[in-house]
Amino acid sequence: AQNRIVVIGGGFGGASAAKYLRKLDPSLSVTLIEPKATFYTCPFSNWVLGGLKNMEDIAQTYTVLKNRYGVNVIADSASSIDAAKGTVTLKSGKVLNYDRLIVSPGIDFKWNSIEGYSESVSNTKMPHAYEAGPQTALLHKQLLAMNDGGTVLICPPANPFRCPPGPYERASLVAHYLKEKKPKSKIIILDPKDKFSKQGLFKKGWEKLYPGMIEWRSVATGGKISKVDAAAMTVTTDFGVEKGDVINIIPPQQAGKIAVDAGLTDASGWCPVNPITFESTIHPGIHVIGDACIAGAMPKSGFAASSQGKVVAASIIRLCQGKVPAPPSLVNTCYSLIGPGYGVSVAGVYKLTSAGIVEIPGSGGLTPMDADDDHLNEEATFARGWYNNIVQDIWG
Ligand code: FAD
Repeated sequence: AQNRIVVIGGGFGGASAAKYLRKLDPSLSVTLIEPKATFYTCPFSNWVLGGLKNMEDIAQTYTVLKNRYGVNVIADSASSIDAAKGTVTLKSGKVLNYDRLIVSPGIDFKWNSIEGYSESVSNTKMPHAYEAGPQTALLHKQLLAMNDGGTVLICPPANPFRCPPGPYERASLVAHYLKEKKPKSKIIILDPKDKFSKQGLFKKGWEKLYPGMIEWRSVATGGKISKVDAAAMTVTTDFGVEKGDVINIIPPQQAGKIAVDAGLTDASGWCPVNPITFESTIHPGIHVIGDACIAGAMPKSGFAASSQGKVVAASIIRLCQGKVPAPPSLVNTCYSLIGPGYGVSVAGVYKLTSAGIVEIPGSGGLTPMDADDDHLNEEATFARGWYNNIVQDIWG
């Protein structure tokens, strides 16, 4: 009988898995469940905030997956999974049977972790813009409406979270916009951490491009927020109350709701998996990829999710053929734009050891601290190329 693979979530992980399953084995029946007709990518959404791209530039659809690759795309969301029966129930009430299920639902937010913050506050006053779409548009609108001389507060969460360099690229590109249009303004990053991804490179770029505009406060200098007041537009830290004209709260995160509801998460809020096949160590037959899974040293990035999507496709095909899946190599590169001609990156290649997924020593690394202007400009060009390639590879 034909093997039936169901994929929940048409983002970086799920859409990659669905496409590569059909590319590698067209005899499989592959069904992708995704409620959004248009998927706005988080990668490059900071570029929208900086005025370098618009929302249409980051919009992806499922037409090619459907028409060229024969993926059965259902515009609905999964409301429950029955791991014992091997079924997924959709919001519409429809029930799908699967032989193997791939779950790539991304993240959910821990709304109750900050007093005064809620989903409705995030949708109206203090957007997270950590799922691209209406939230990105709202934060962009607020930045456009802010007066010159205003203060933008960016409040990232503690680790682990989606896209470790994301809040700092955001600060950079918002600064690019403010420097051009509202140069008396200021950005304060209130961070509950004592260090952040590519910190040295970001700080160097900020000093060069936006001197005095971006202030980063660590946990030791009042970066940890405990409370927000949406009416007063303030946040409370251990050191006092801070007022913002635009406030971007990026709340603590966990695996997407369907993964939590299906019992695929452990006490950490993320999903433990076998690192060869990404099969859940809790529910056999269900594979979890992308931000929702625990993937050792790999960061929660779109590139990592897509890399895992291809690995899971190859593993499932071997499992369907009764073969043993091969241990994978996995890759990741994260570009961050600090200014239009100023890019930096971190890259890694990962392998499997008895300690799980680890980075191969010397395989990747960071943009050198002493990179010259040509190098930094070239990295900005590579960032554009990276985006065009990955969205073509996944949705094109
Ligand atoms: P997603 O891509 O979020 O996809 C999840 C999908 O599942 C969504 O479409 C959602 O609608 C769907 N879904 C959820 N629940 C259900 C359900 N019950 N039923 C059906 N569908 C469901 N990564 C990079 O590699 N490079 C970058 O430059 C980069 N920049 C970033 C910048 C920002 C500001 C942010 C926030 C993130 C950035 N990332 C970047 C990270 C990247 O966006 C994520 O790591 C990536 O999207 C994770 O892929 P995923 O498949 O796990 O989740």
